[in-house]
Amino acid sequence: MSHPVLDDLCDRLGLAEVARLAEARAEHAASQQQPYTTYFTELLQTEADARQQRYVTSRIQMAHLPFRKTLETFDFAFQPSIDERQIRELAGLHWVDESANVIFLGPPGVGKTNLVVAMAMAAIQVRASVYFVTIQDLVADLRKAWQENRFPQRLAVYSRYKLLCVDEMGYLPMERLEATLFFRLVAARYEHGSLALTSNKGFSEWGEVLGDAVLATAILDRLLHHSTVVNIRGESYRLREKKRAGHLLGPSGPTAPPRQGEGGPGHGVDSLAR
Ligand code: ADP
Ligand code: MG
Repeated sequence: MSHPVLDDLCDRLGLAEVARLAEARAEHAASQQQPYTTYFTELLQTEADARQQRYVTSRIQMAHLPFRKTLETFDFAFQPSIDERQIRELAGLHWVDESANVIFLGPPGVGKTNLVVAMAMAAIQVRASVYFVTIQDLVADLRKAWQENRFPQRLAVYSRYKLLCVDEMGYLPMERLEATLFFRLVAARYEHGSLALTSNKGFSEWGEVLGDAVLATAILDRLLHHSTVVNIRGESYRLREKKRAGHLLGPSGPTAPPRQGEGGPGHGVDSLAR
């Protein structure tokens, strides 16, 4: 049976899920002798859930995340130098409320980007504005804006996000202008918005990365004032996957991909990965 008035009201109020489900749910509620309030609450809950889902999907796209991963799939057992409790606490995002920063340090493949993405996804869920960018893309963009006399506008854009994720600090050295522009960004965001940063270089090497020890000190001074530093030491998860697939050279050449359960105890996938 169609309900043109209900359909029209739902259309005007943007309640697509209610329009879709109202009748079937009503029949169900009647057969179960559900109270009206239960019926109505569940219907609105479905609408709210669908809306949140749409919001999250579009914000994830806008945030420019390199992949979608949460802590759910993060294997803490693989990386014992990471304090799981600390990471779960950070995923509660009090530091974002306080415009503080989080910095993940460690060698390639240990999960730095994954953890930043997980923080970003958590922040999107609670409707914080988030943007993810590699330091290379960030400084290239700032530099271009500088050359085109529109640096203040770009700086304003990057300053607006509640959480700005800056990935891969340290892989490439910066030129002086780039380091200066990055300093301007860090200074503009200081105590106004949060940075989640990853680097494969310890802070003592940042002078080299930024090509200027004074600038490095000035940047670190602001970054670290309100910050949590997560130092990760351990094996690359990427290489573990390669080892599993048998793509890494062992002492006697490439290893054949082992099959689960073959070779007796100590010769399975896990022993290779260690
Ligand atoms: P990094 O940024 O430190 O170089 P990534 O976070 O990009 O490393 O991790 C490399 C890949 O391995 C990603 O696909 C990531 O999701 C995965 N990964 C890394 N560490 C873990 C882990 N402990 N549990 C599950 N996946 C992991
Ligand atoms: Mg990374």
